[in-house]
Amino acid sequence: MRNIFLVLCSFLVISIGNTFAQRSQVVVMIDAGHGGKDVGHETSISGHQNEKHLNLKIAKFLGGYIEKYLSNVKVVYTRTDDSSVSLDARVDKANNAKVDYFLSIHCNGNENKNVRGTESHVHSMSSTKSVKLARMIEKQFSSRAGRRSRGVKDKNDLQHSLQVLKFTEMTSVLVECGFITNAREANYLNTTYGQEIIASAVFRAFRGFIVQQHPNISFKKTAGSSATTDANARYGIQIASSKEWIDDEDSRWKSLEVKRIKLNTTSAYKYIYIVGNYASRSEAKAKLTGIREKGFKDAFVTKR
Ligand SMILES: [Zn+2]
Repeated sequence: MRNIFLVLCSFLVISIGNTFAQRSQVVVMIDAGHGGKDVGHETSISGHQNEKHLNLKIAKFLGGYIEKYLSNVKVVYTRTDDSSVSLDARVDKANNAKVDYFLSIHCNGNENKNVRGTESHVHSMSSTKSVKLARMIEKQFSSRAGRRSRGVKDKNDLQHSLQVLKFTEMTSVLVECGFITNAREANYLNTTYGQEIIASAVFRAFRGFIVQQHPNISFKKTAGSSATTDANARYGIQIASSKEWIDDEDSRWKSLEVKRIKLNTTSAYKYIYIVGNYASRSEAKAKLTGIREKGFKDAFVTKR
């Protein structure tokens, strides 16, 4: 009798222990859309890549930022190379691994080449957490990454469900990073620079979201963290990009002092032009209106 009592007691202790055990990390699955034979949206612009390649690059930048700048977040992927993964397999992978978050990365396409902008999709507007994360991503796109946001959409907007959102059992958002059928957006998405900006916008939104959702987990990196890099960061305003080298003194720059940066990219747009050198993003932002008024309507703040 005494033995049974002891067994029961220890069982109780273990159960209580589990219930009150604090979670020590979160797991995010990053899903690069399409892959293999499924190329996603196809480009008609020479030198540009089809959707599946852009998705994978952005997905890897995103995962890289999470691993580099956050503690206690485990990153897993549905694919890390150009392999075919079915939609069922993606859903099963996420559900079986019981990940906390599922971020699917896509680029959009449209017959109308003028259509451009980012979208974040959720299965339903009643999935509160997914909607919240999606809104944070779109906010980062429009306020920090200089993108045009087309907002948060659900199955009713699309008039059909997206399988990876419908059947995954966790907070899930599918991000459309821009239209590869719009020449200007396609140029941006095909640069390493553009891919990094898009990935860092999603990263910042994700970081903001998990910090709110898990107050008991510390996501701060300790030694050698991002804080040092951020402290040394300088900011500028990107006013243009070009295929050909353009002289610093060119009249197109309207007497602004530009810094030309050659991108390490396979895309046609090899050069970007940045003005200003500021210690903080807000300082750069304060100058942005003036630059836009000079005729550089798409100018945006960026790290130098
Ligand atoms: Zn897609």
